[in-house]
Amino acid sequence: MRHYSAGILEPMELLEGELGKPRQKYPQEQNHPWISILLDIYHLVDSWVRVETELRGLNIACKKGCGHCCKLLTVPINHLEFRGLCWYVFEILQGDERYQVKSRFLDHNEDAECPFLINDSCIVYPLRPIGCRQFFVLSRPCFARENPWIKRRQDIYSALNHDISWMIAKMYFPFYGIITEEEQRKAYEEGFLIESDRPLTSYSWVTIGKKIV
Ligand code: SF4
Ligand code: SF4
Repeated sequence: MRHYSAGILEPMELLEGELGKPRQKYPQEQNHPWISILLDIYHLVDSWVRVETELRGLNIACKKGCGHCCKLLTVPINHLEFRGLCWYVFEILQGDERYQVKSRFLDHNEDAECPFLINDSCIVYPLRPIGCRQFFVLSRPCFARENPWIKRRQDIYSALNHDISWMIAKMYFPFYGIITEEEQRKAYEEGFLIESDRPLTSYSWVTIGKKIV
């Protein structure tokens, strides 16, 4: 892993370096240009998380296979993220994984845990929403059923800041037909993107599950 030295390069220069690295690509993107927008946004978030955690020397406690938070907390997602999750389930997942998701969807209700957590692992990991990509706890992993928002808020690390949120918003806006800089600034200040967020668990996954064959 590359170790950054704070002060030698500015965070935005480091970010440019990270963004220059290849992101995951899918042949199916050709048929759905909006998927490329979403994947570019996720690439930006992941790149920024790498820069920030390295620069600040953060001791991130979250590890693969730790999914207590996916059972306890629900993550807000916007319309494009919802479409991305559906696309991944319908076009990318195959065989057993697809049927496992179908089964989780059919059992889902609004109070249930995230339907994408299967065997303590995120089955849509490459398409997991921004909320899952930039939320971490520091120092030690959570215990089962420990809600860090209540028990250890000081350990929560959320990577997005104003500059990165604005970069993300500018990437989203064309999808919603918000094109000019003036329109985008206005929409951003009015909280357009935040207002369209809904908890992931509140979507009608049962209805979607019935369409999975
Ligand atoms: S999408 Fe994946 S990472 Fe996010 S809450 Fe669900 S299982 Fe967890
Ligand atoms: S937030 Fe807590 S439960 Fe979730 S991955 Fe990190 S350590 Fe595990």
